[in-house]
Amino acid sequence: MIKPPALLAALLLSSAHGAPLLDHDLNTPPRRQLEAAARDLMKLPEAEVLALVPEQTPFITSDCPACGNTHFARGLERDLWKLTLPGTLTCLKCGAQFPSDKFPLNDKATYLNTLGEKVEIAFHRDAKGRRFALPGALQSWQNGWLVEHL
Ligand SMILES: [Zn+2]
Repeated sequence: MIKPPALLAALLLSSAHGAPLLDHDLNTPPRRQLEAAARDLMKLPEAEVLALVPEQTPFITSDCPACGNTHFARGLERDLWKLTLPGTLTCLKCGAQFPSDKFPLNDKATYLNTLGEKVEIAFHRDAKGRRFALPGALQSWQNGWLVEHL
């Protein structure tokens, strides 16, 4: 029986002699590509970067209260919202921007985050009683941007 270190050495040796063991498409991106991805993040002051870290569980979505544009997936829908740093969401259907005085955060609820901590989430509640989790959606988009640029 071949022990794991011996097996690893045999595999590496066979690769060194032309076996395609280590030839694959899973190479890390070139340094230049990684630096370009982090460039916008590195321009921000530390306080602005920290402000992008959500307080609640990410991936909260919201419909647009201005036009009713509806989200269908749990996560960031790039055909519904556009984030402008540091904290503006724009509906791609009607162009409404949030936060907005036209859609005040007039409702709230308490949930548990992944750490079991109570987190208060603010909502806009319209005249029909529908809730729009605009601050949560904004935090989700900020978190998504942050993760993409780390
Ligand atoms: Zn809209």
